[in-house]
Amino acid sequence: MPEKTLTIALSKGRIYQDTLPLLAEAGIEPADDPETSRKLILETNRDDVKLVVIRAADVPTYVQYGAADLGVSGKDVLMEHGGEGIYEPLDLNIARCRLMVAGRPGAHLRPGRLRVATKFVQATRRHFAARGRQVEIIKLYGSMELAPLVGLADCIVDLVDTGNTLRANGLEPLEPIADISSRLVVNKAAMKMKSARIKDLVAQLSAAVERRR
Ligand code: AMP
Repeated sequence: MPEKTLTIALSKGRIYQDTLPLLAEAGIEPADDPETSRKLILETNRDDVKLVVIRAADVPTYVQYGAADLGVSGKDVLMEHGGEGIYEPLDLNIARCRLMVAGRPGAHLRPGRLRVATKFVQATRRHFAARGRQVEIIKLYGSMELAPLVGLADCIVDLVDTGNTLRANGLEPLEPIADISSRLVVNKAAMKMKSARIKDLVAQLSAAVERRR
């Protein structure tokens, strides 16, 4: 990554849509729309700022290795990544939801070893370990709500916003694990090498977040 450029990693969809107005308030506007363009590197109105548009789960990895100086990543994704090599200076207060244990009513109270289906293996392991609860974690990549319905698991751990997805499948939230929102993340070396520009950007984004509260 050239020394002069600031590269910001974002994922398509909710995070991109919610981050765009914050970046605009910081004076950064992409030249292309990633929802329609096939380009993976987007130029912006600023010569020294580029956006890379990647899978949400890959954002912390790009930032950790310095392939991007900054990124926007859900706290759920950061909890799974572990946060090595990255700072998390700002809660952007967007894409908010909760990470929850969910299942049929009372499913989590069943005695014995619980089977828990989830994409969020690390957060799930930590949550139940802190409660001294033995669990078998079954890693899935999507449609977690299906697992209790077909006997694959007793409970799931998933993101819950309105709760509609759970309700539509006869499930309910059982235990909160964490409040989730998207965070600005920064590569630790870039924070030193490009300190002035990154601090300016963090301050501008922080002001934009405050104006929205
Ligand atoms: P809801 O039906 O509104 O509770 O939304 C739950 C579904 O949307 C689940 O499949 C979640 O994985 C997904 N979801 C909700 N909020 C978020 C978020 N902030 N980021 C990513 N996925 C989310």
